Amino acid sequence: MTTTALDTPVFLRPTTLAEALAAKAAHPDAAPITGGTDIMVELNFDVRRPAVLLDLSEVAELRTWERDGDRVRVGAAVTYTRIVHELADELPGLALAARTVGSPQIRNRGTVGGNLGAASPAGDCHPPLLATGADVEVAGVRGTRLVPVAEFFTGVKRTALAADELVTAVLVPRKRGPQQFAKIGTRNAMVIAVCSFALALDTSARTVGTGIGSAGPTPLRAPQAQELAAAELPWESRDDIDVRLATRFGELVAAAARPIDDVRGTAAYRRLALAVLARRCLRWAWQEYRCA
Ligand SMILES: Cc1cc2nc3c(=O)[nH]c(=O)nc-3n(C[C@H](O)[C@H](O)[C@H](O)COP(=O)(O)OP(=O)(O)OC[C@H]3O[C@@H](n4cnc5c(N)ncnc54)[C@H](O)[C@@H]3O)c2cc1C
Repeated sequence: MTTTALDTPVFLRPTTLAEALAAKAAHPDAAPITGGTDIMVELNFDVRRPAVLLDLSEVAELRTWERDGDRVRVGAAVTYTRIVHELADELPGLALAARTVGSPQIRNRGTVGGNLGAASPAGDCHPPLLATGADVEVAGVRGTRLVPVAEFFTGVKRTALAADELVTAVLVPRKRGPQQFAKIGTRNAMVIAVCSFALALDTSARTVGTGIGSAGPTPLRAPQAQELAAAELPWESRDDIDVRLATRFGELVAAAARPIDDVRGTAAYRRLALAVLARRCLRWAWQEYRCA
């Protein structure tokens, strides 16, 4: 497609959140651009050609994080690099996932808000956000609302955002026990997940959170695996995990997935791999708990 002056999108660059929300209300079709690591690929390959681009990278309110009671509010424009360096103690699952995203260059630009906005089934932030029970903060000129992350994704690359809304932050519970994240790809770095898995133990409530990535139209939880582990882990004695419990946990995680065959892997391989990832994550997290 030839680009002419008429094709050039309108480029809006607000510097405050109020301006950004007003711009989105005035231009509901505007495509937000935060780090640009996803959308620039689409623009370069002519996958989409929005008439209006809404650059959020200069909105200071979106670039901060702060503690909010027992949660951390991570602004939509906080980059992966900052999550790794600044939030690994409090949000270890999210930081582990952030560490696996792309390359240093992608992690310097890419953001949690962009990962949510893209809503790719392979988004690496999504499983740890599910496992920890995070809420997505979305805002528009009509007000701000919190959407549980499990309800935020409505399909492949589809979200619960209204046309006049932006993701402004994600509210993630602070660490309540060991957390893990593991991802399978065709190589060790710069790779989109064939499948991924996140685990979060709450050692006070004695509950187990899960998140499955890249094995369904949206990220998924494995409720039966969570219930099994919560009921049967030896929380009191901190004994080693029974091999049958770890195996059954893996099987239930694999059964909760809804994978398809695609260029990155088959559905059968994804189920097999998820069972292994889930078993490993449970063992790693439990070992950390035993040694604490
Ligand atoms: C080489 C390469 C490697 C990659 N590797 C990985 C990987 O390993 N794991 C992974 O998960 N991803 C990966 N990605 C994809 C991408 O880096 C991530 O999805 C990243 O989180 C996108 O963030 P961003 O800020 O760059 O988003 P952008 O590109 O700015 O935006 C992405 C989408 O979200 C929308 N959006 C942006 N901000 C908002 C907002 N505040 N509210 C609502 N919608 C918004 C945009 O309109 C767009 O549709 C890779 C990309 C590249 C190019």
